[in-house]
Amino acid sequence: MRGSTKLFRIFGIDIKLHFTWWFVFALLAWSLSASFFPEFFPDLSKEMYWSMGITASLLLFVSVLLHELSHSLVAKAKRIKVESITLFFFGGVAGITREDMKPSSEFQMAIAGPIFSLLLAGVFYLVNQNGFSVFITAISFYLYQLNLILAVFNSIPAFPLDGGRAFRAILYWYFKDLRKATKIAVSIGKFFAGFLIVLGVIGLFNGIGAGLWFVFLGGFLFFIAGASYEQVAMREVLADIRVKELLKKKYAKLSPSMKFVDFVKKYANKDEEVFIVKGKGFVGIIDLKQINKMPVKMQEMIKLKQVSIPLHQIKTLGSKDSAYTAFRKFAETGLEILPVMDGKKVLGVVSKKSVMHRLVWEFKFGKLGKVKKRKHKQK
Ligand SMILES: [Zn+2]
Repeated sequence: MRGSTKLFRIFGIDIKLHFTWWFVFALLAWSLSASFFPEFFPDLSKEMYWSMGITASLLLFVSVLLHELSHSLVAKAKRIKVESITLFFFGGVAGITREDMKPSSEFQMAIAGPIFSLLLAGVFYLVNQNGFSVFITAISFYLYQLNLILAVFNSIPAFPLDGGRAFRAILYWYFKDLRKATKIAVSIGKFFAGFLIVLGVIGLFNGIGAGLWFVFLGGFLFFIAGASYEQVAMREVLADIRVKELLKKKYAKLSPSMKFVDFVKKYANKDEEVFIVKGKGFVGIIDLKQINKMPVKMQEMIKLKQVSIPLHQIKTLGSKDSAYTAFRKFAETGLEILPVMDGKKVLGVVSKKSVMHRLVWEFKFGKLGKVKKRKHKQK
Protein backbone atom coordinates (compact mmCIF):
# COMPACT_ATOMS: atom_id res chain seq x y z
CA MET A 1 0.00 0.00 0.00
CA ARG A 2 1.30 3.45 -0.84
CA GLY A 3 2.12 5.83 1.98
CA SER A 4 3.24 3.07 4.33
CA THR A 5 6.43 2.84 6.33
CA LYS A 6 7.97 -0.39 7.48
CA LEU A 7 8.14 -0.80 11.23
CA PHE A 8 9.74 -4.19 11.70
CA ARG A 9 9.76 -7.76 10.47
CA ILE A 10 8.36 -10.75 12.36
CA PHE A 11 7.94 -14.41 11.20
CA GLY A 12 9.25 -13.20 7.85
CA ILE A 13 6.37 -10.71 7.49
CA ASP A 14 6.93 -6.97 7.08
CA ILE A 15 4.83 -4.93 9.49
CA LYS A 16 3.97 -1.58 7.95
CA LEU A 17 2.17 1.51 9.14
CA HIS A 18 0.01 3.55 6.79
CA PHE A 19 0.12 7.31 7.38
CA THR A 20 -3.69 7.44 7.96
CA TRP A 21 -3.12 5.43 11.11
CA TRP A 22 -1.53 8.44 12.85
CA PHE A 23 -4.77 10.44 12.55
CA VAL A 24 -6.75 7.64 14.11
CA PHE A 25 -4.17 7.21 16.83
CA ALA A 26 -4.24 10.94 17.73
CA LEU A 27 -8.03 11.09 17.59
CA LEU A 28 -8.40 7.95 19.68
CA ALA A 29 -5.84 8.95 22.33
CA TRP A 30 -7.52 12.34 22.60
CA SER A 31 -11.09 11.05 22.87
CA LEU A 32 -10.07 8.41 25.41
CA SER A 33 -8.25 10.88 27.66
CA ALA A 34 -10.79 13.67 27.28
CA SER A 35 -14.02 11.74 27.64
CA PHE A 36 -13.95 7.93 27.94
CA PHE A 37 -11.62 7.49 30.92
CA PRO A 38 -12.83 10.59 32.86
CA GLU A 39 -16.38 9.30 32.49
CA PHE A 40 -15.75 5.77 33.78
CA PHE A 41 -12.90 6.54 36.18
CA PRO A 42 -13.58 10.03 37.59
CA ASP A 43 -11.39 12.23 39.84
CA LEU A 44 -7.97 11.38 38.40
CA SER A 45 -5.33 13.82 37.18
CA LYS A 46 -5.15 15.06 33.60
CA GLU A 47 -1.71 13.47 33.16
CA MET A 48 -3.15 10.16 34.31
CA TYR A 49 -5.94 10.35 31.70
CA TRP A 50 -3.45 11.15 28.97
CA SER A 51 -1.11 8.31 29.86
CA MET A 52 -4.15 5.99 29.97
CA GLY A 53 -5.35 7.26 26.60
CA ILE A 54 -1.99 6.86 24.89
CA THR A 55 -1.26 3.44 26.41
CA ALA A 56 -4.74 2.14 25.58
CA SER A 57 -4.46 3.40 21.96
CA LEU A 58 -1.07 1.74 21.56
CA LEU A 59 -2.36 -1.52 23.00
CA LEU A 60 -5.35 -1.38 20.67
CA PHE A 61 -2.86 -1.08 17.83
CA VAL A 62 -1.04 -4.15 19.18
CA SER A 63 -4.39 -5.98 19.42
CA VAL A 64 -5.22 -5.24 15.78
CA LEU A 65 -1.73 -6.30 14.78
CA LEU A 66 -2.08 -9.60 16.66
CA HIS A 67 -5.46 -10.15 14.99
CA GLU A 68 -3.90 -9.71 11.55
CA LEU A 69 -0.89 -11.78 12.52
CA SER A 70 -3.15 -14.68 13.50
CA HIS A 71 -4.66 -14.64 9.97
CA SER A 72 -1.17 -14.54 8.51
CA LEU A 73 0.23 -17.34 10.62
CA VAL A 74 -2.58 -19.69 9.62
CA ALA A 75 -1.92 -18.70 6.01
CA LYS A 76 1.76 -19.46 6.42
CA ALA A 77 0.96 -22.82 7.97
CA LYS A 78 -1.05 -23.52 4.79
CA ARG A 79 1.97 -22.50 2.72
CA ILE A 80 0.26 -19.37 1.45
CA LYS A 81 2.63 -16.50 0.95
CA VAL A 82 2.21 -13.53 3.28
CA GLU A 83 4.25 -10.52 2.31
CA SER A 84 3.23 -7.83 4.74
CA ILE A 85 0.71 -6.53 7.21
CA THR A 86 -0.27 -2.89 6.90
CA LEU A 87 -2.02 -1.12 9.73
CA PHE A 88 -4.14 1.76 8.60
CA PHE A 89 -7.24 3.84 9.15
CA PHE A 90 -9.77 1.03 9.48
CA GLY A 91 -7.59 -1.57 11.12
CA GLY A 92 -5.24 -3.87 9.31
CA VAL A 93 -4.78 -5.62 6.02
CA ALA A 94 -2.59 -8.59 5.43
CA GLY A 95 -0.93 -8.70 2.02
CA ILE A 96 -1.70 -12.30 1.29
CA THR A 97 -1.41 -13.78 -2.16
CA ARG A 98 -4.68 -15.62 -2.34
CA GLU A 99 -4.49 -17.56 -5.53
CA ASP A 100 -6.08 -20.94 -5.89
CA MET A 101 -6.72 -21.09 -2.19
CA LYS A 102 -8.57 -24.17 -1.00
CA PRO A 103 -11.93 -23.38 0.65
CA SER A 104 -10.83 -25.10 3.86
CA SER A 105 -7.66 -23.00 4.00
CA GLU A 106 -9.53 -19.75 3.45
CA PHE A 107 -12.10 -20.72 6.07
CA GLN A 108 -9.49 -21.45 8.72
CA MET A 109 -7.56 -18.34 7.82
CA ALA A 110 -10.66 -16.17 8.08
CA ILE A 111 -11.85 -17.40 11.47
CA ALA A 112 -8.40 -17.24 13.08
CA GLY A 113 -8.63 -13.45 13.49
CA PRO A 114 -11.94 -13.21 15.36
CA ILE A 115 -11.05 -16.22 17.51
CA PHE A 116 -7.79 -14.58 18.52
CA SER A 117 -9.55 -11.27 19.29
CA LEU A 118 -12.01 -13.17 21.45
CA LEU A 119 -9.15 -14.79 23.37
CA LEU A 120 -7.50 -11.42 23.80
CA ALA A 121 -10.77 -9.95 25.09
CA GLY A 122 -10.84 -12.79 27.65
CA VAL A 123 -7.29 -12.05 28.79
CA PHE A 124 -8.00 -8.34 29.22
CA TYR A 125 -11.22 -9.20 31.05
CA LEU A 126 -9.33 -11.37 33.55
CA VAL A 127 -6.78 -8.59 34.07
CA ASN A 128 -9.64 -6.14 34.57
CA GLN A 129 -11.34 -8.33 37.17
CA ASN A 130 -8.17 -8.85 39.20
CA GLY A 131 -8.19 -5.44 40.86
CA PHE A 132 -4.71 -4.22 39.99
CA SER A 133 -4.00 -0.47 40.03
CA VAL A 134 -6.60 1.91 38.62
CA PHE A 135 -4.34 2.46 35.58
CA ILE A 136 -4.33 -1.23 34.61
CA THR A 137 -8.01 -1.65 35.50
CA ALA A 138 -9.00 1.28 33.29
CA ILE A 139 -6.92 0.21 30.30
CA SER A 140 -8.00 -3.42 30.46
CA PHE A 141 -11.61 -2.23 30.83
CA TYR A 142 -11.34 -0.45 27.50
CA LEU A 143 -9.33 -3.17 25.73
CA TYR A 144 -11.51 -6.14 26.65
CA GLN A 145 -14.50 -4.29 25.21
CA LEU A 146 -12.70 -3.23 22.07
CA ASN A 147 -11.30 -6.70 21.40
CA LEU A 148 -14.77 -8.13 21.95
CA ILE A 149 -16.16 -5.62 19.44
CA LEU A 150 -13.37 -6.54 17.01
CA ALA A 151 -14.23 -10.24 17.37
CA VAL A 152 -18.00 -9.74 17.01
CA PHE A 153 -17.91 -7.14 14.22
CA ASN A 154 -15.44 -9.17 12.15
CA SER A 155 -17.59 -12.29 12.55
CA ILE A 156 -20.53 -10.69 10.73
CA PRO A 157 -20.89 -12.72 7.52
CA ALA A 158 -20.56 -9.68 5.29
CA PHE A 159 -17.72 -9.83 2.77
CA PRO A 160 -14.96 -8.51 3.02
CA LEU A 161 -15.19 -8.93 6.81
CA ASP A 162 -13.66 -12.13 8.20
CA GLY A 163 -17.11 -13.66 8.71
CA GLY A 164 -17.91 -12.91 5.07
CA ARG A 165 -14.68 -14.56 3.94
CA ALA A 166 -15.47 -17.65 5.98
CA PHE A 167 -18.97 -17.65 4.50
CA ARG A 168 -17.58 -17.36 0.98
CA ALA A 169 -15.27 -20.29 1.68
CA ILE A 170 -18.30 -22.40 2.65
CA LEU A 171 -20.15 -21.33 -0.51
CA TYR A 172 -17.06 -22.06 -2.58
CA TRP A 173 -16.79 -25.51 -1.06
CA TYR A 174 -20.50 -26.10 -1.72
CA PHE A 175 -20.81 -24.72 -5.26
CA LYS A 176 -17.21 -25.44 -6.37
CA ASP A 177 -17.45 -22.10 -8.14
CA LEU A 178 -15.42 -19.20 -6.74
CA ARG A 179 -17.13 -16.58 -8.87
CA LYS A 180 -20.61 -17.60 -7.78
CA ALA A 181 -19.52 -17.86 -4.15
CA THR A 182 -17.93 -14.41 -4.30
CA LYS A 183 -21.00 -12.95 -5.97
CA ILE A 184 -23.32 -14.13 -3.19
CA ALA A 185 -20.90 -13.15 -0.40
CA VAL A 186 -20.34 -9.75 -1.99
CA SER A 187 -24.07 -8.97 -2.29
CA ILE A 188 -24.52 -9.65 1.41
CA GLY A 189 -21.44 -7.55 2.11
CA LYS A 190 -22.79 -4.66 0.04
CA PHE A 191 -26.16 -4.89 1.75
CA PHE A 192 -24.47 -4.72 5.14
CA ALA A 193 -22.28 -1.81 4.01
CA GLY A 194 -25.40 0.04 2.84
CA PHE A 195 -27.02 -0.66 6.20
CA LEU A 196 -24.00 0.86 8.00
CA ILE A 197 -24.20 3.98 5.82
CA VAL A 198 -27.93 4.42 6.49
CA LEU A 199 -27.33 3.89 10.20
CA GLY A 200 -24.54 6.47 10.13
CA VAL A 201 -26.68 9.04 8.31
CA ILE A 202 -29.53 8.56 10.79
CA GLY A 203 -27.00 9.00 13.59
CA LEU A 204 -25.66 12.20 12.05
CA PHE A 205 -29.17 13.66 11.74
CA ASN A 206 -29.65 12.92 15.42
CA GLY A 207 -26.44 14.68 16.30
CA ILE A 208 -24.33 11.58 16.93
CA GLY A 209 -20.83 12.35 15.62
CA ALA A 210 -19.86 8.66 15.47
CA GLY A 211 -22.35 8.38 12.60
CA LEU A 212 -19.70 9.79 10.30
CA TRP A 213 -17.45 6.88 11.19
CA PHE A 214 -20.21 4.43 10.16
CA VAL A 215 -20.68 6.23 6.85
CA PHE A 216 -16.94 6.02 6.10
CA LEU A 217 -16.68 2.39 7.19
CA GLY A 218 -19.76 1.43 5.15
CA GLY A 219 -18.41 3.20 2.08
CA PHE A 220 -15.05 1.54 2.48
CA LEU A 221 -16.54 -1.97 2.85
CA PHE A 222 -18.83 -1.36 -0.14
CA PHE A 223 -15.87 -0.39 -2.29
CA ILE A 224 -13.68 -3.35 -1.26
CA ALA A 225 -16.57 -5.81 -1.74
CA GLY A 226 -17.18 -4.59 -5.30
CA ALA A 227 -13.49 -4.59 -6.18
CA SER A 228 -13.08 -8.13 -4.84
CA TYR A 229 -15.79 -9.45 -7.11
CA GLU A 230 -14.35 -7.74 -10.16
CA GLN A 231 -10.96 -9.19 -9.33
CA VAL A 232 -12.30 -12.73 -9.05
CA ALA A 233 -14.30 -12.38 -12.28
CA MET A 234 -11.31 -10.96 -14.08
CA ARG A 235 -9.01 -13.67 -12.79
CA GLU A 236 -11.40 -16.38 -13.99
CA VAL A 237 -11.69 -14.89 -17.45
CA LEU A 238 -7.98 -14.31 -17.87
CA ALA A 239 -7.04 -17.73 -16.47
CA ASP A 240 -8.91 -19.35 -19.36
CA ILE A 241 -6.98 -17.44 -22.01
CA ARG A 242 -3.57 -18.66 -23.10
CA VAL A 243 -0.78 -16.18 -23.72
CA LYS A 244 -0.35 -17.92 -27.08
CA GLU A 245 -3.67 -16.47 -28.26
CA LEU A 246 -2.45 -12.94 -27.65
CA LEU A 247 0.99 -13.50 -29.07
CA LYS A 248 2.30 -10.90 -31.46
CA LYS A 249 4.83 -12.52 -33.75
CA LYS A 250 5.44 -9.52 -35.93
CA TYR A 251 7.51 -6.87 -34.34
CA ALA A 252 10.21 -4.45 -35.31
CA LYS A 253 13.64 -6.03 -34.95
CA LEU A 254 16.27 -3.38 -34.47
CA SER A 255 20.02 -3.25 -34.17
CA PRO A 256 21.52 -2.38 -30.77
CA SER A 257 23.85 0.11 -32.46
CA MET A 258 21.02 2.09 -34.09
CA LYS A 259 21.02 5.72 -33.01
CA PHE A 260 17.99 6.79 -31.04
CA VAL A 261 17.43 9.77 -33.31
CA ASP A 262 17.14 7.45 -36.33
CA PHE A 263 14.75 5.23 -34.43
CA VAL A 264 12.49 8.23 -33.76
CA LYS A 265 12.63 9.32 -37.41
CA LYS A 266 11.73 5.87 -38.62
CA TYR A 267 8.89 5.03 -36.27
CA ALA A 268 7.28 8.36 -35.39
CA ASN A 269 4.72 7.89 -38.13
CA LYS A 270 4.27 4.14 -37.91
CA ASP A 271 1.75 2.17 -35.96
CA GLU A 272 4.36 0.07 -34.24
CA GLU A 273 4.52 -0.51 -30.51
CA VAL A 274 6.75 -3.48 -30.01
CA PHE A 275 10.49 -3.20 -30.54
CA ILE A 276 12.98 -5.98 -30.00
CA VAL A 277 16.61 -5.01 -30.04
CA LYS A 278 18.79 -7.89 -31.17
CA GLY A 279 22.35 -8.39 -32.33
CA LYS A 280 25.92 -9.12 -31.19
CA GLY A 281 24.85 -11.33 -28.30
CA PHE A 282 22.33 -8.82 -27.02
CA VAL A 283 18.56 -9.22 -26.84
CA GLY A 284 16.34 -6.64 -25.21
CA ILE A 285 13.07 -4.82 -25.54
CA ILE A 286 12.18 -1.17 -25.75
CA ASP A 287 9.33 0.02 -23.60
CA LEU A 288 8.52 3.54 -24.74
CA LYS A 289 6.76 4.34 -21.45
CA GLN A 290 10.00 3.70 -19.59
CA ILE A 291 12.02 6.16 -21.65
CA ASN A 292 12.08 9.75 -20.50
CA LYS A 293 11.92 12.79 -22.72
CA MET A 294 15.35 13.63 -24.06
CA PRO A 295 16.83 16.53 -26.01
CA VAL A 296 17.70 15.98 -29.67
CA LYS A 297 21.43 16.31 -28.93
CA MET A 298 21.23 13.40 -26.56
CA GLN A 299 19.17 11.38 -29.05
CA GLU A 300 22.04 11.67 -31.50
CA MET A 301 24.46 10.19 -29.00
CA ILE A 302 22.36 7.46 -27.47
CA LYS A 303 22.14 4.04 -29.05
CA LEU A 304 19.20 1.69 -28.76
CA LYS A 305 21.14 -0.75 -26.61
CA GLN A 306 21.36 1.92 -23.91
CA VAL A 307 17.61 2.43 -23.70
CA SER A 308 16.49 -1.15 -24.04
CA ILE A 309 15.92 -3.57 -21.21
CA PRO A 310 18.02 -6.73 -21.55
CA LEU A 311 15.90 -9.87 -21.76
CA HIS A 312 17.62 -11.54 -18.83
CA GLN A 313 16.40 -8.74 -16.57
CA ILE A 314 12.78 -9.30 -17.54
CA LYS A 315 10.32 -11.78 -16.15
CA THR A 316 9.45 -13.47 -19.40
CA LEU A 317 6.39 -15.56 -20.15
CA GLY A 318 6.13 -19.12 -21.37
CA SER A 319 3.75 -20.05 -24.18
CA LYS A 320 1.67 -22.16 -21.79
CA ASP A 321 1.16 -19.31 -19.31
CA SER A 322 -2.29 -17.82 -18.93
CA ALA A 323 -3.25 -14.24 -19.59
CA TYR A 324 -3.71 -13.91 -15.83
CA THR A 325 -0.03 -14.71 -15.27
CA ALA A 326 0.80 -12.08 -17.88
CA PHE A 327 -1.48 -9.58 -16.16
CA ARG A 328 0.26 -10.17 -12.84
CA LYS A 329 3.69 -9.81 -14.38
CA PHE A 330 2.69 -6.54 -16.03
CA ALA A 331 1.65 -5.26 -12.63
CA GLU A 332 4.84 -6.51 -10.96
CA THR A 333 7.26 -5.15 -13.53
CA GLY A 334 5.44 -2.01 -14.62
CA LEU A 335 6.28 -2.93 -18.23
CA GLU A 336 3.86 -2.58 -21.13
CA ILE A 337 5.15 -5.56 -23.11
CA LEU A 338 6.62 -8.91 -22.16
CA PRO A 339 8.45 -11.39 -24.35
CA VAL A 340 7.11 -14.93 -24.61
CA MET A 341 9.89 -17.49 -24.63
CA ASP A 342 10.24 -21.11 -25.52
CA GLY A 343 13.46 -21.97 -23.77
CA LYS A 344 15.90 -19.40 -25.13
CA LYS A 345 13.89 -18.66 -28.25
CA VAL A 346 11.72 -15.56 -28.43
CA LEU A 347 8.33 -16.65 -29.76
CA GLY A 348 6.92 -13.17 -29.78
CA VAL A 349 5.59 -10.60 -27.40
CA VAL A 350 2.40 -9.93 -25.45
CA SER A 351 1.38 -6.38 -24.73
CA LYS A 352 -0.59 -5.19 -21.75
CA LYS A 353 -2.85 -3.41 -24.20
CA SER A 354 -3.78 -6.67 -25.91
CA VAL A 355 -4.59 -8.33 -22.56
CA MET A 356 -6.82 -5.42 -21.53
CA HIS A 357 -8.40 -5.34 -24.98
CA ARG A 358 -9.26 -9.02 -24.77
CA LEU A 359 -10.61 -8.54 -21.25
CA VAL A 360 -12.96 -5.76 -22.36
CA TRP A 361 -14.24 -7.94 -25.20
CA GLU A 362 -14.71 -10.94 -22.92
CA PHE A 363 -16.68 -8.85 -20.44
CA LYS A 364 -18.79 -7.33 -23.19
CA PHE A 365 -19.37 -10.20 -25.59
CA GLY A 366 -17.68 -13.22 -24.06
CA LYS A 367 -19.04 -16.19 -22.22
CA LEU A 368 -18.61 -14.46 -18.87
CA GLY A 369 -22.30 -14.80 -17.98
CA LYS A 370 -22.07 -18.54 -18.20
CA VAL A 371 -18.41 -19.27 -17.66
CA LYS A 372 -17.97 -23.01 -17.56
CA LYS A 373 -17.57 -24.19 -14.04
CA ARG A 374 -13.92 -24.41 -13.17
CA LYS A 375 -13.79 -27.39 -10.91
CA HIS A 376 -11.73 -26.82 -7.86
CA LYS A 377 -8.85 -29.21 -7.83
CA GLN A 378 -8.35 -30.85 -4.48
CA LYS A 379 -4.77 -31.90 -4.08
ZN1 LIG B 1 -9.57 -10.17 10.47
